[in-house]
Amino acid sequence: MKRRQFVGGVGVGSLLGASGALGLMTGCASTGGGNGPKVVVVGGGFGGATAAKYVRMWSDYGIQVTLVEPNASFISCPISNLVIGGVKTMSDITTSYDALTKVYGVQLVRDRVAQIDAEKRVVKLAGGSDLPYDRLILSPGVDFMYEMLPGMAAAGAQDNVLHAWKAGPQTVALRKQLEAMPDGGVYALAIPPAPYRCPPGPYERACQVANYFSKNKPKSKVLILDGNDDVTSKGPLFKKAWADRYKGIVEYRGKHFLADVDAATNTLKFEFNDPVKADVLNVIPSMRAGDIAVKTGLATANKRWCDVDFLTFESKAAKNIHVIGDSIQIAPMMPKSGHMANQHGKTCAAAVVALLTGKEVNKNPIYNNTCYSFVSEEDVVHVASVHAYDAAKQTMMPVAGSGGVSKAANELEGRFALAWARGIWADTLL
Ligand SMILES: Cc1cc2nc3c(=O)[nH]c(=O)nc-3n(C[C@H](O)[C@H](O)[C@H](O)COP(=O)(O)OP(=O)(O)OC[C@H]3O[C@@H](n4cnc5c(N)ncnc54)[C@H](O)[C@@H]3O)c2cc1C
Repeated sequence: MKRRQFVGGVGVGSLLGASGALGLMTGCASTGGGNGPKVVVVGGGFGGATAAKYVRMWSDYGIQVTLVEPNASFISCPISNLVIGGVKTMSDITTSYDALTKVYGVQLVRDRVAQIDAEKRVVKLAGGSDLPYDRLILSPGVDFMYEMLPGMAAAGAQDNVLHAWKAGPQTVALRKQLEAMPDGGVYALAIPPAPYRCPPGPYERACQVANYFSKNKPKSKVLILDGNDDVTSKGPLFKKAWADRYKGIVEYRGKHFLADVDAATNTLKFEFNDPVKADVLNVIPSMRAGDIAVKTGLATANKRWCDVDFLTFESKAAKNIHVIGDSIQIAPMMPKSGHMANQHGKTCAAAVVALLTGKEVNKNPIYNNTCYSFVSEEDVVHVASVHAYDAAKQTMMPVAGSGGVSKAANELEGRFALAWARGIWADTLL
C-alpha cells in the first residue's frame, strides 16, 4: 500500500518534482526541494496534523507539505482530565508523529514559527530558517490572556497556579499538586467566560478530581468558580453527577468572574464576589487565538479570534493563509473542540487541494462533533451536533433535529468515548 502511494506520488509528475519524490522515498524530512505546490502547516495539534495528512492524501501525494511543530509528539487534551484524576497516564494520551512523516510523507520541522510574511508568502522559524509557501494553514490553538490577571505576572505565579489547559507538563504538575494536597484540603477551579477551548472540559475535570478525592481524600473539596452564569455544557448531567456521586465534595458557584490571582497567598479575587483561598488553585484564564495568528493580524473578531471563509477556511484578513481549529471565530453553536478542529482540518485540506490543482471547492461542506465527558472512571455523557454550510448566511449552521445530549451517564458511553478517542487520534495522526 505504501509502495503504491509512493509510485502514485511520482506518477502525478505535474505536481511533484523529482527531488520532492526523492525526499519522500528516502524518508528525508528536509524542508525544501521539489517543484510542486508547497503547503506549510503551523501546529501539529488536532487541526494542523489532520490538515497535513489529508492534503498529502487528497493530492495523491503531489503537494509538498511541511508541518512546523515544536513538540516532539502529540499529546491529547481529550482524556487528559483522566490523567489529572489518576486513572490514565501520559503515555495513554501521547501519539508519535512518525506515521505522518513515514506513511504520508509530511516533512516535519521541529521548531516554532516566529513570523509570517503574508506578502512574500514566507514563514520565519524561531530557529532562523525561512519556509516559502503557496498556501499556509495555521492551527496554533489558543493562548491565554494573562494580562486580565495582573497577579499572574508575579515571579513564579504561572508555575504554581496552573491551567493544565494544554496537555503536557502542566497536566503532570497539576496531578502532583493534587497528590501532595492533604486530605481535608480545597481544590478551586476557576472557569473563564465562554468562548473557551472545550466547553464541557472544566466540568469533566471537576468530576475527575472529585472521583479521586472520593476514593483517596474523602474530606477534601472541589470548589468550582465559574465565570459564566451557569454550567455552559451538559449542565443537568454534570449537576446530577455532583449531587448523586460527589455529594459533599463538589460545590458549584456560578457568576464568579475572576479579576485577579494572588499566587503568594493562593487566593482568587473576583469582580463581585468575596475572595477565595484554596490549597490547590487551577485557573483557566480567558483565551484567544494562538499568539502567531494574533501577531500576524489575523484575529479580526474582537482582536481575539480569526474570521474565516467557512468554505475554504481562508482568513478574511490575509490571502493564501487558512486558519482552522480553536483559533477561529466560531460559527453559531460550533464548539472549540478537537473533533471540530479535525473536521476543519479535512474541509480545509480538500479546499486547499482544490485551489492548488484548479478544481472546484466544495460548496456544501457538512461535519459533525461529539464531545464525551467522563463523570467517573467509567461513566460518560455526550453532546453531539451536525453543522452544514448555509450559503445565504455564509456560515456553518447546526442542522435542525441532528445531534443531541445523553439521557444519563452510563458505562456503555464510556466504551464509546474511549473508542472515539482512539478513532480521532488515528484519523488525525495514523
Ligand atoms: C482538558 C481538556 C479536555 C478536552 N477534551 C476534549 C474532548 O473530549 N473532545 C474534543 O473534541 N475536544 C476536547 N478538548 C479540546 C481540544 O483539545 C481542542 O479543541 C483542540 O486541541 C484544538 O485543536 P487545535 O489544532 O486548534 O489546537 P491544538 O490541538 O492545541 O494544537 C495547536 C498546536 O500548535 C502548536 N503551535 C502553537 N503555536 C505555534 C507556532 N508559533 N509555531 C509552531 N507550532 C505552534 C502547538 O505546539 C500545538 O501543538 C479538550 C481540551 C482540554 C483542555
